[in-house]
Amino acid sequence: METIYRKSLLYKSGLGLYCINHVQGCSHGCRYPCYAYMMAKSYGKTIGYADWCQPRLVANAEALLAKELAHKKVKPSTIHLCLSTDPFMTGYDEIIDMSLRLIALINSFDIACSVLTKGRFPSALADMSRFSTENRYTISLISLDEDFRIKWEPGATPYAERIAALKYLHEHGLKTQVHMEPYPTPNLIRQDLSLILDEIGFVDHIFFGGWNYNNLVKEFGQYRSFYSEQQNKIRQFCEDRNIQYAF
Ligand code: SF4
Repeated sequence: METIYRKSLLYKSGLGLYCINHVQGCSHGCRYPCYAYMMAKSYGKTIGYADWCQPRLVANAEALLAKELAHKKVKPSTIHLCLSTDPFMTGYDEIIDMSLRLIALINSFDIACSVLTKGRFPSALADMSRFSTENRYTISLISLDEDFRIKWEPGATPYAERIAALKYLHEHGLKTQVHMEPYPTPNLIRQDLSLILDEIGFVDHIFFGGWNYNNLVKEFGQYRSFYSEQQNKIRQFCEDRNIQYAF
């Protein structure tokens, strides 16, 4: 795959999180649209959607991060992967291998990772001799319907495979989460949130957020009451099972 070189990797985002993005672009090609894609386009880092979907690996990411972490006087407690790409991009073994090496490197400095993907978490992450048990593993999940995924997250991993990979990590005692955002209103898909929750009842934390990227949800007149009902369902589900949640 094509590679690029960067001068720095670790940064503190506007959200206050320390992050790394060791890939430019993302083949998952989400069409909500993807905020990272819109930013890259407005800053001239990509010429369009097809270009964005051709990821470029930062070839010097490992050496760069090792140097940055070694020189950091006050080390962050957690580093997030990733805000503007996907560390476990579906079908890209080089990216997946690099992400595993970077997580191991971060953990070797006694820093935990929070990792977010619409891909499949590798089972290798359950190797506790290599990876910290303090890491948090999150999948993004807003439906179980594969026709919906193909329309809105065309390059991402099928939902059932995402959940199965996360469950494997949970069964090995690791911290797991679901990021349920941007959750669609019924004019985008009619679905029962309870069925999705039933599939992810093993996780430690659920974050729920609406579809705030454009006006599509407002075409569904009762979107405020719809979101409020879904939040009530999540609250009840999580409190019954002692799962943490946030909106
Ligand atoms: S997986 Fe994330 S970074 Fe990749 S296209 Fe989708 S929203 Fe954007």
